Amino acid sequence: MNLVLMGLPGAGKGTQAEKIVQEYGIPHISTGDMFRAAIKEGTALGLQAKAYMDRGDLVPDEVTIGIVRERLSKDDCQKGFLLDGFPRTVAQAEALEAMLAELGRSIDYVINIEVDKALLMERLTGRRICKECGATYHLVFNPPAKLGVCDKCGGELYQRADDNEETVANRLEVNMKQTQPLLDFYRAKGYLRNINGQQEIEQVFADICELLGGLK
Ligand SMILES: [Zn+2]
Repeated sequence: MNLVLMGLPGAGKGTQAEKIVQEYGIPHISTGDMFRAAIKEGTALGLQAKAYMDRGDLVPDEVTIGIVRERLSKDDCQKGFLLDGFPRTVAQAEALEAMLAELGRSIDYVINIEVDKALLMERLTGRRICKECGATYHLVFNPPAKLGVCDKCGGELYQRADDNEETVANRLEVNMKQTQPLLDFYRAKGYLRNINGQQEIEQVFADICELLGGLK
């Protein structure tokens, strides 16, 4: 079961990744975890990646792809894997295709969790934090009893600058622009499966399980 998971911020990708990993026993391979592990193990590629990151530079594709190759060659990936955050570009997707072909494998599905922009905005801008105790709330999903006031300590609730409409809208816009070519690439390959992410978490997961039911 070789999977790539895609979805915009707020689509619920992390939640579904956790559930897929639990249900199917395949490792969740996120770019961040993979880099951290390679650096901790001190592999040649890990050290190269660290040098770029320490300078505040982007890690170049050939290093990232090498780290993915090392990770996918490990024993725990023999049954399959769930890639998350990689590939980010068509060039990386092409490199992944070549790498998997060398290993005699291929992607089964690219699962794209779809949520429309208005709902993503609602999810991503609704967070409120208590100035006094740091408790977090969400206007829609976990509202305080009294608007603007912390249930726990009566402190004032505020919205982080990162969560304001303009910042969030920009972030989504940039993300959509980046992922569109990748979605087109995978659609053309026949791997892309869109999942409706505007449902209850359990229903989204049920749809994913239905899709994966046919795979070994
Ligand atoms: Zn509080």
